[in-house]
Amino acid sequence: MQDKKFDIVIVGGGILGISIGYFLTLNSDANVLLIEQEKNISSHTSSRNTGKVHAPFLYDPITKKIFARIAFLGYSMWETYSNLKGIHFKQDGVIEIAKEEKDILVLKKYFEWGIKNGLEEKDILLLNKEETKKIEPNIRCNGSIYCKRDASVDYRILSNSLKSDYLANGGKILNLHRVTRIETKKDNNCIIEIITKNGEKKIIDSKYVINTAGGNSLDIARQFGIGLGLIDLHFRGEYWLAPKEYEKLTSHSIYSIPKQKNFPFLDPHWIVKADGHCEIGPNAVPVFGPYSYNFIDNLRNFIPKTKEIFVKKGLWSLLYNREFLSLLTNEIASSFSKHIMIQRVKHFLPALDTKKFNTRGTSGIRSLLIDDKGNFIPDTLLLKNSLSMHILNYNSPGATGALPLSAMIVQELIYEKVIHKVDKNNHHQLWNIEDIYSNIKL
Ligand SMILES: Cc1cc2nc3c(=O)[nH]c(=O)nc-3n(C[C@H](O)[C@H](O)[C@H](O)COP(=O)(O)OP(=O)(O)OC[C@H]3O[C@@H](n4cnc5c(N)ncnc54)[C@H](O)[C@@H]3O)c2cc1C
Repeated sequence: MQDKKFDIVIVGGGILGISIGYFLTLNSDANVLLIEQEKNISSHTSSRNTGKVHAPFLYDPITKKIFARIAFLGYSMWETYSNLKGIHFKQDGVIEIAKEEKDILVLKKYFEWGIKNGLEEKDILLLNKEETKKIEPNIRCNGSIYCKRDASVDYRILSNSLKSDYLANGGKILNLHRVTRIETKKDNNCIIEIITKNGEKKIIDSKYVINTAGGNSLDIARQFGIGLGLIDLHFRGEYWLAPKEYEKLTSHSIYSIPKQKNFPFLDPHWIVKADGHCEIGPNAVPVFGPYSYNFIDNLRNFIPKTKEIFVKKGLWSLLYNREFLSLLTNEIASSFSKHIMIQRVKHFLPALDTKKFNTRGTSGIRSLLIDDKGNFIPDTLLLKNSLSMHILNYNSPGATGALPLSAMIVQELIYEKVIHKVDKNNHHQLWNIEDIYSNIKL
């Protein structure tokens, strides 16, 4: 790479980083570089997820306002983009069930949230036990929400398509380079130190930094003095692949009302993927690092993470919380025991036979932010200063919301004169980013 000076550097090439790059290069002539530590973009959470374009009924319109807005807008944007590119977008709907009678009240609340978040009554139905049985005869439940406006996709394929568009529009990518340090200079520039896999150091100069480093985003933000009171905890979501004979067991993915509702984890679901194969998962096993897919990496992160947790006194109240500890115990148990994991779904899909599950799926890690009082932060956080923007706590439905959130961020940078608008978007009139911005900021 010849160039060492950029208008904008994006740190992290997951689905969010590449979507921001896509909208930046469609709407401006800024010289943009995306830095990704892996060989390929979207190698972590963005390809290690359930692959759903989530409907917004799970998100409280007040405490999870951004997630709710971007989930609503994400559906039509991914549908439009997939159709344009000939990428599979399977509009298959989803069923959320009440395992117990008392969960019906939660379904009603979800229904209301869905409508408040923009779903129309034709898209979302509240069904009783018998009505659910007619759609999914193999499911055992007390009632359900059937949402038709929900889809299955492969976010790795979508990310790669965005990458091609980004490169075609003049964006640049530096793979296999990790950002290790960022310093801000008096002349309003950021000096970014990067390192290759074999330890070679380089320096890049940028007028502005966008931090989309997923599980590392809090570390990058701290380099700007941002997010200092926060801490991140990492949870590995594991899956089991279902045998082929179960592919016709249901026509929809089936989610259930989580047992513990005070924490941001869903119970494992029955998942019908975009290509038709089925999986069970994810659970949420606490791990020490954002890439702790295996024992060795987990062990490597054990000491630094424990030290960090130890000094954050606010976190102790969470660690003393009996409900949280019981949740952790269950999740850890479901990591070690296939039986416990499958049982969580067998409860509502009794035809499953644990012995027939022999292959683990690809696990993904979510990094959740906790505030200084030990509370999970419910929504994504967009924090910034004059030289940088940081997208933190970007969890599910983050893949669903990547296009609308990116369009919003780029419009914000135009309003703030960080970049100048040059519309290369006009020829196919795909997106009106001013409308998307107002829709999210509403
Ligand atoms: C188990 C699981 C299931 C999920 N299912 C769904 C779903 O069905 N639907 C949905 O909408 N969402 C889902 N999500 C959430 C969704 O996958 C994430 O919100 C989304 O992928 C986050 O994208 P990202 O680009 O912010 O992060 P990432 O995909 O983690 O990308 C960040 C990138 O930054 C790079 N990076 C980090 N640090 C550095 C550095 N210092 N230098 C250079 N590069 C760096 C990393 O290598 C990585 O590629 C799920 C998440 C999990 C964990």
